[in-house]
Amino acid sequence: MLPDFHLHTGLCGHATGDVLDYVVVARSRGLTHVGFADHIPMYWLPPGRRDPELAMSEEELPGYVESVQKLKENYLDLTIRLGIEADYIPGFENQLRALLSRYPFDYVLGSVHYLGTWGFDNPDQVEEYGRRDIDELYRQYFSLVQQAALAGLFDVIAHPDLIKKFGYRARMDLLEVYEETARAFAEGGVCVEVNTAGLRVPAGEIYPALDFLKLCRRYQVPVTVGSDAHQPHLVAYGWDRVREWLLAAGYNAVVVFRERQKELINIL
Ligand code: ZN
Ligand code: FE
Ligand code: FE
Ligand code: ZN
Repeated sequence: MLPDFHLHTGLCGHATGDVLDYVVVARSRGLTHVGFADHIPMYWLPPGRRDPELAMSEEELPGYVESVQKLKENYLDLTIRLGIEADYIPGFENQLRALLSRYPFDYVLGSVHYLGTWGFDNPDQVEEYGRRDIDELYRQYFSLVQQAALAGLFDVIAHPDLIKKFGYRARMDLLEVYEETARAFAEGGVCVEVNTAGLRVPAGEIYPALDFLKLCRRYQVPVTVGSDAHQPHLVAYGWDRVREWLLAAGYNAVVVFRERQKELINIL
C-alpha cells in the first residue's frame, strides 16, 4: 500500500474528524505509513485578519503537534509522521522559517494557494479566473511554484499544478514551463507530490499532469503521495489511479519522511 502523507484534520475549520478518525480509516485500508499535514496558521496576516475556516490559529498549533505525537506512540503497526502544509508567501520566508523551527516536524509540504491576495483555489473567489489572461496566469503560478521550490523551506511541493483545479486550462503548450519547474524542483532539492484531490474537483485529474510528472522523473525529483483528505473516508482516495500515474511516469519508489530525512519505499 502506498503511504498517504497529506491528511488534514477538523482543526483547519474546513475539514472533519480528528487525527484518530483518520488513523482508524488508514488502518482499515491496510496502510502502513501516514502523515498529517494540516494547514499552518496564516502567519503572513495579522491575527485579526486570519480566517478560522482556512487554517488553525497559532494557539491551536501546539495541540495539533501534541495530538499527532501522542498517536505515534500508540500504534506499532502504523507509522505516523508529523507534517504541516505551509503556504508559500513571497516576502514572508523569515516568518515561516521561525514558525517551523519551533516544532519537531517530520516534513513540510510547501503549497501555493495565493497569487497576491487572490486565493485562487477558493471556490468563493473563482470568478477572478474570468478576469485573467489564462496563459499569463499559468506563467505566474508556475513561477511562484519554482520560487517556492528554491526557497529552502520545504521538503515537498504539494499539488504542483493546483492552478488547474476549477478546469481553467492553459491554451499554450505547457511543456516548457513544466520542464523549467521540474528543473527548479531538482535544484531546490524538493520532492514533487502526487495528489489525488484533483480527481474530486472540476479538473478531474491527479495533480500534477502526467507530462509534468514524467519531467520530474527525468530530472530525478523524488515523489511523495497524498490524498489531501479533508474527511476521514477520503484517506487513500484514488490509490489505484495514483499507482498507475506513478508507474506511467517511470517511478518505482516513493518517499516518506522522518525528522526531515527521506526514506524510500519501493512500490513495485
Ligand atoms: Zn484545506
Ligand atoms: Fe493545499
Ligand atoms: Fe491540503
Ligand atoms: Zn492541499
